Amino acid sequence: MRKALYLFLLLLVAGCGQPRARHQAPYREANYAHGGPRFKILLLFDDSAEPAHVQFAHQAIGFFNKLTVGEGFVVDSTQTLDGYTLEQLQEYTALIALNAAPSRAARPLFEEYMESGGGWIGFHAAGYNDKGTGWPWFNQFLGAGFFKANNWPPQPALLELDRTDHPVTRNLPASFVSPASEFYQWQKEPRENPDVEVLLTLSARNYPIGLKDIIYGGDFPVVWTNRNYRMLYINMGHGDEQFEDATEKLLFVNALRWIVSCDPAGNPFDR
Ligand code: ZN
Repeated sequence: MRKALYLFLLLLVAGCGQPRARHQAPYREANYAHGGPRFKILLLFDDSAEPAHVQFAHQAIGFFNKLTVGEGFVVDSTQTLDGYTLEQLQEYTALIALNAAPSRAARPLFEEYMESGGGWIGFHAAGYNDKGTGWPWFNQFLGAGFFKANNWPPQPALLELDRTDHPVTRNLPASFVSPASEFYQWQKEPRENPDVEVLLTLSARNYPIGLKDIIYGGDFPVVWTNRNYRMLYINMGHGDEQFEDATEKLLFVNALRWIVSCDPAGNPFDR
């Protein structure tokens, strides 16, 4: 009982989303015992996406694989969740959506995975949705409305931390200029949602931002979490400059570490 309370307090300290249910992960339990990989992640990407999003996805696959030097964890990648069972998906501490959302057929599976304590980091286009998407669950999951606007062309932007004491923003400067990216602005700004915690915002000092498609103002969250889930949305993810900047790479490592550490089945870094 005491241990359960301790774990719960730990989760609170880390600002973890509320785990809805403990899920089984026999793979991880088996591997801790002999010092094997601490956890598994699954990268979801789509090679038929917009070329700049494919470019990002392939660089991201390289980035996450490079983090496994020494086999600290397992990285698998797939272009579709179709054919996975819930049990297979639950082997993964987190699903990292690089440039794609699950197919229509896999939506119920993904919902079940997330509702039962699964982890998700979604980059840029992985969160894209508009009125044609027809997936209300995803809107409440993302904690935002529909895509509203984007800057074009991709360009560097000044970003400002909303919180300096969160594991995701740990050791990041209070403000920094990101590498060139296309940023999505959202309708029904996530900040209006009481379940959403915004961690990083595109500074109003960028306005007007864009040369072709110009955004003149408005709230512009860039990284946020919906406390009802173990999830993090990261607006970056366009083009080939996302892994050139140490600050941004640190943000991505922090993000991975936080989502994984909040696993309701146990923090793999504590072992
Ligand atoms: Zn894009």
